[in-house]
Amino acid sequence: MSQSFKIRILTLFPEFFDSPLSTSLTGKAIERGHLEVELVDIRDFATDKHRKCDDIPYGGGAGMVMKPEPLVAALEDAREALPDAPRILLTPQGEPFEQATSVSLADEAGLILVCGRYEGIDERVRQNWIDREISIGDYVLTGGEVAALVVVDSVMRHLPGVLGNQESVTEESFSEGMLEYPQYTRPRSFRGHDVPDILLSGHHENIENWRREKALQRTRERRPDLLDDE
Ligand code: SAM
Repeated sequence: MSQSFKIRILTLFPEFFDSPLSTSLTGKAIERGHLEVELVDIRDFATDKHRKCDDIPYGGGAGMVMKPEPLVAALEDAREALPDAPRILLTPQGEPFEQATSVSLADEAGLILVCGRYEGIDERVRQNWIDREISIGDYVLTGGEVAALVVVDSVMRHLPGVLGNQESVTEESFSEGMLEYPQYTRPRSFRGHDVPDILLSGHHENIENWRREKALQRTRERRPDLLDDE
């Protein structure tokens, strides 16, 4: 079997990840050795007796800022463990996280994900110890943990062996620059709403054409920007 893909997450709240990483497909990927997620508590790298990881911002203003010393020590430790993995900061100021980003990250030699908290991290850490910055959308979260989970969940889907049916990853929304076609399951008629006849026809070519047409129509209606990119 291929080696497991290693992701190290630096966080002030490792317990945040307990349930999401043990549930469903992610839990199975970890259990089966396709994926290894190591949670590192940044606080373990603080050297003072209160294990302080934040401080007031220079210049004044609201909130606290993550101190450089523990975070850089945690990043150095991560570099030693995963020397070729990019150090990625989750931040609303980063490049937008898209399917193509996810596919490319799955090709890396592992990932080091840094979760910010409070008003974010000291700018000097960002400039000198971070390789890449990723945002999961134009809104502000309380911490980078939710964003790191989005990255883990999405990247994991591209790792060899994780999805049983490899087709399901190539046919999904965004994989061909379009949204996916509508899906139906049994029963054939539900409260007066029927499954389109063509899906019951058993004619594979017609079904494929119908699906392609629906995918295009749906993309045109909901996300015309995806078609403009081509
Ligand atoms: N003051 C920062 C700013 O305005 O850019 C926002 C800090 S936010 C309250 C705390 C942390 O949540 C950030 O350091 C980052 O790690 C994470 N975060 C918030 N929104 C995010 C997003 N859209 N994508 C990725 N991470 C995000």
